[in-house]
Amino acid sequence: MSLNFDPSSCVRASSKFSQCTKCVDICPVSTIKIVDNIPAFTPSSCIECGGCVGSCPTESFSLSDFSAINFFFGALEKKEHKFACKTELPCLSVLSVEHLIALALGSDEPLILDAKACACGGDSGVLNNQIEANIEEANFVLSSFSSKQILVDSLTDITEQEHEESVRDRRSFLSLKGAMKSKQDFDKAVEADELKKFELDSEVIMGIKDKKIPDKRKLLFSLLKRQKRPEVYEVLATEDVGFTSQKFVDASCTNCQICYRICPTSALSSDMKFSVINFDAMMCVKCHLCHDVCEPNAIQLQPGFEIKEFFEPKQRTLAKFDIQRCNECGNYFTYTGGVKECFRCKIEEDEAMELHENAKKMDF
Ligand code: SF4
Ligand code: SF4
Ligand code: SF4
Repeated sequence: MSLNFDPSSCVRASSKFSQCTKCVDICPVSTIKIVDNIPAFTPSSCIECGGCVGSCPTESFSLSDFSAINFFFGALEKKEHKFACKTELPCLSVLSVEHLIALALGSDEPLILDAKACACGGDSGVLNNQIEANIEEANFVLSSFSSKQILVDSLTDITEQEHEESVRDRRSFLSLKGAMKSKQDFDKAVEADELKKFELDSEVIMGIKDKKIPDKRKLLFSLLKRQKRPEVYEVLATEDVGFTSQKFVDASCTNCQICYRICPTSALSSDMKFSVINFDAMMCVKCHLCHDVCEPNAIQLQPGFEIKEFFEPKQRTLAKFDIQRCNECGNYFTYTGGVKECFRCKIEEDEAMELHENAKKMDF
């Protein structure tokens, strides 16, 4: 098992203004660092818990031998509904809230997770806290439209000593270096000890342009489609839903186009003339990038998240703009009244006026 990172999916690659540190915050061994605004990590320090995999809103991190989607379908097929770390999955923290909701909805029996037995992160407690928070959020969201619930129970009798051993196990592959047989093994081990940095090369930049809906969102969506619609749709407090959001755009928006051009999933979009800002909550992964890049802070979270969105997803128009041709250059621009002149032509004209005034003063 090894940790992989796709920089083109990371919101930090899209903008230097991104503040996302979810992968850094969850890593129990602090091996993920932000270098030149992009996550970097030292493979040999990684304990392969998958905490970053479960926490990344855009699925930029992955584990080579674990797929949450395969795990999901495997569990359904085998009718398994009880899970603990290091059984069928590396650590419960590899599962996001969306995975947990999907598992609970897909399982005939109540989903039982042995959250308290997680010792994957040693004494840091960061993974346990995240697992508990994920279960709490999943149960809270589930309770708004389903009777399904995730239960927390002890499935294994892990003693404290076994806890320590389990952490040691995770680190033990480092000692395998002693058993290296070939130059290739040696090179790999040396490489694993070095900080793996990622650059924004042309391939990454091409990848950023591809808008991607994470698999976990597709999975959740397909499970929700099979659910009975609740009679009454609840509205949940925005701060209690961490994986999606509803938004509005206030009057300070300048239609600079950045948010809808940069949104990694196309939750925010526009039309050919850039005359609207459309928003599709079921595609939003709450990565916060649109908020981070919006200079006037015009894009805002709605105070409540409407569960109706899960069952009747709808694209909403958050803002409309009057797009006109500039009288000077003929290009389209967002017209806000007055002379029909685009921002660039207006600046040029102001500069020309200033030069003219200065020249006049010098003549005297
Ligand atoms: S988008 Fe994912 S990989 Fe990038 S900083 Fe956020 S959590 Fe880390
Ligand atoms: S909401 Fe902000 S980022 Fe989006 S177009 Fe308006 S000003 Fe630009
Ligand atoms: S709408 Fe904003 S928060 Fe949602 S996915 Fe797009 S950039 Fe991220």
